[in-house]
Amino acid sequence: MSETIDFIIVGGGISGRLMQLALQNQGGTTLVFDEANSNQSSIVAAGLANPLVGKFFTIGWRANEFFNGLTDFYQDLENRLDAHFYKPCTMRRIIASAGEQNIWLSKAHQSKYVGFCDFSPEPIPGLDTNFGILNVHQGGELDTRLFLKACYENLPTDNSKFDFGLLNMAKNRYGNLKFKHIVFCEGYKVMENPYFNTLLNVVPTKGELIEIDTELAPKGDIYLGSVFLQYLYDRRWRVGSTYSQGDSSPFPTEMMKNDLLVKLDKTLNLPYTLVEHYCGIRPASIDRKPILGTHPLHKNMHLVNGMGSKSVSLAPLLTQEMSEYLINNTPLQPEVDIQRFW
Ligand SMILES: Cc1cc2nc3c(=O)[nH]c(=O)nc-3n(C[C@H](O)[C@H](O)[C@H](O)COP(=O)(O)OP(=O)(O)OC[C@H]3O[C@@H](n4cnc5c(N)ncnc54)[C@H](O)[C@@H]3O)c2cc1C
Repeated sequence: MSETIDFIIVGGGISGRLMQLALQNQGGTTLVFDEANSNQSSIVAAGLANPLVGKFFTIGWRANEFFNGLTDFYQDLENRLDAHFYKPCTMRRIIASAGEQNIWLSKAHQSKYVGFCDFSPEPIPGLDTNFGILNVHQGGELDTRLFLKACYENLPTDNSKFDFGLLNMAKNRYGNLKFKHIVFCEGYKVMENPYFNTLLNVVPTKGELIEIDTELAPKGDIYLGSVFLQYLYDRRWRVGSTYSQGDSSPFPTEMMKNDLLVKLDKTLNLPYTLVEHYCGIRPASIDRKPILGTHPLHKNMHLVNGMGSKSVSLAPLLTQEMSEYLINNTPLQPEVDIQRFW
């Protein structure tokens, strides 16, 4: 008799791996199928966790829950996987104009910003900081490549493409493998999943990034202007990113490269050389909230998707909530529950 796996997980990006770790924490046996794909979203992601979003200095949805404890969460994973891939950091949001400065001043007294933001008038050589800087705390950087590599080396993984022709839901079998549950974490490739593709509207949202060589200092900080500048190593900085909704073509484009360069020139006052240009496809949802839950007909078939541009900050707590739902029947929050689509 073949062994029964508690949870087959299809997709080994950030969502699939955090789902696997959460289920293992609760005692479940797991196997991830991942056909690694060089421009999968999780591989190219900048890996930033930033509690402050948008033009109007908005503290993101459930920010206290997502950000309190985020550093401890990733540091625990580093111990468990015996690797270094997370760094807490302060993001330095460049205030772009007198108008933006006024928006910030009208909001600065609100209690929700306490612990997240403070203003600094100090100039930063090389950047246009005439209107000041907002220091954004409780953020961090996940080196997604190192995180996924550590998962691959330490967690049960099958590197092949999951073949729907081998899936028999009536017998809970995948080929010769028996399972209790199957959880799909396929990113935008869910569009090819015959069980979910007609039920969901996951919007592929292509993002492009460039890397440049420049003398900007101090190294180690993240600057958020018209584009973000993320220090990588030596003189190398990553700059991003673009958003093209509905685009799942796998190649970077001249148009978006030029868009990034125009925005970079508004932020950086130093000479630079362009050295890399690449892209990935984010899995976004139509209402910009993640999608978690169970198939309407197959009660042991589930899905985690729609992390958009925020999996690094959202997925740790949401995969924990999903594992409690799967193992202890704890209800999911209605705003992320897949049932909102039917
Ligand atoms: C340019 C860019 C910058 C970004 N920056 C950030 C950032 O700073 N911070 C942040 O939080 N997020 C960022 N993101 C978003 C982040 O990358 C996504 O939220 C995240 O990667 C989604 O992870 P996922 O695991 O759901 O999907 P994916 O990363 O798409 O992973 C899905 C995996 O499933 C595999 N798969 C699919 N179908 C099958 C199958 N049939 N068989 C086997 N394997 C399969 C795929 O090959 C892939 O490996 C960025 C994204 C882009 C494109």
